[in-house]
Amino acid sequence: MNGSSIRDQFPLLHQMMGDYPLCYLDTAATSQKPLAVIQAMDDYYRRHNANVHRGSYQLAAAATRGFEAVREKIQRFINAEKQQEIIFTHGTTEALNLLAHGLASQIRAGDRILVDSTAHHANLVPWQQLAKSTGATLIPIPLRSTLRLDRQALTTLLQQPTKLVALSHVSNVLGTVNDIRALSQQIHTAGAICVVDGAQAIGHLPVDIQQLGCDFYAFSGHKMYGPTGIGVLWGRFALLDTLTPLLTGGEMIKTVSFDHTEFGELPFRLEAGTPPIAEVIGLGAAVDFLCSLDREAAQRQEQQLLQQLQQELAQLPGVKLYGAHPDNSGAVAFNLADEHHQDIGMLLDQQGIAIRCGHHCAMPLMQLMGVKGCCRVSLGIYSNAADIKCFIQGLRTAINLLT
Ligand code: PLP
Repeated sequence: MNGSSIRDQFPLLHQMMGDYPLCYLDTAATSQKPLAVIQAMDDYYRRHNANVHRGSYQLAAAATRGFEAVREKIQRFINAEKQQEIIFTHGTTEALNLLAHGLASQIRAGDRILVDSTAHHANLVPWQQLAKSTGATLIPIPLRSTLRLDRQALTTLLQQPTKLVALSHVSNVLGTVNDIRALSQQIHTAGAICVVDGAQAIGHLPVDIQQLGCDFYAFSGHKMYGPTGIGVLWGRFALLDTLTPLLTGGEMIKTVSFDHTEFGELPFRLEAGTPPIAEVIGLGAAVDFLCSLDREAAQRQEQQLLQQLQQELAQLPGVKLYGAHPDNSGAVAFNLADEHHQDIGMLLDQQGIAIRCGHHCAMPLMQLMGVKGCCRVSLGIYSNAADIKCFIQGLRTAINLLT
């Protein structure tokens, strides 16, 4: 599939916003969905809907097979060792909450938890709550002036005993990429657990968790061309098996009596209740869609567009870019002189251009950047040169109106 035929797979992109064709540059918030995903979910509800893991009839058995086949697809997609290491959640936020809750009994007062300063709130607040409830200490890992993680500072921090380090794979604001392989080696040498928020990486970069070497990796289906309401927590089996379940109830048990419950095995022990079945099916279709593409070529094209976007933005009067590096992935953050980011967003929206303006669920990072918010332009597999042209023209119009 080439660029324009990939784009043809996304019906939502071919519409007008008033007098203007839609120019969608907010994939970091959520990606659009290809026909294959929409059709898979529609087909599931029309022909296959039944609850999984419990019915004794053919329809339920087929639904269960379809559901579990997606677990296997995800296992292969991220190169996990075991299917049982794939835990379905409602998204990255739930995955990281499940993890922080699950580890609580292993954290003692005085333990140190390090967190990436670019972290999305989903990879910060659960650790903050865990620290509060256990008496552990949460320490942000400083950034360099380039807004990349400060490896030297991390080395110094890891000289003291550390329980866990929570990293972003790709920053949802800046698009900066952490070298997870090198970082997880360093973190393991220091005897800590390495947790990675992969929400912004999974739709852009090849993710091979055995190669990355981390202990836990979380992502959301809706950032990788799948539906909302589904995500994954991957963990090393031996560690995952020690987690205290966040939710208890149906389907996660072996035996229940009025005075005792014996929990079941992984992955079901961490998946209480009816799972989001149609969403899992949609996620499976998203994986098939991605695997049907020449992902290396798509990644190269996306990278070229990102660099073009960074360069063209840098040339506009009054534009300040944040943490823009050629090897970033998916997103560019900027502000315009003294203008409020929301004004820029509004003026672009009036021209059919969708970007995100605000704190991007990364308020501590905004504080480090010395701003209340910023504009973020983000790309997807369907983005093309026409999108960049349209955005730059639209921003010029906004600049002329404001200055
Ligand atoms: N982490 C990062 C880096 C994100 O970009 C997001 C969503 O924007 C999340 C976590 C939370 O994902 P979700 O809202 O799908 O749970």
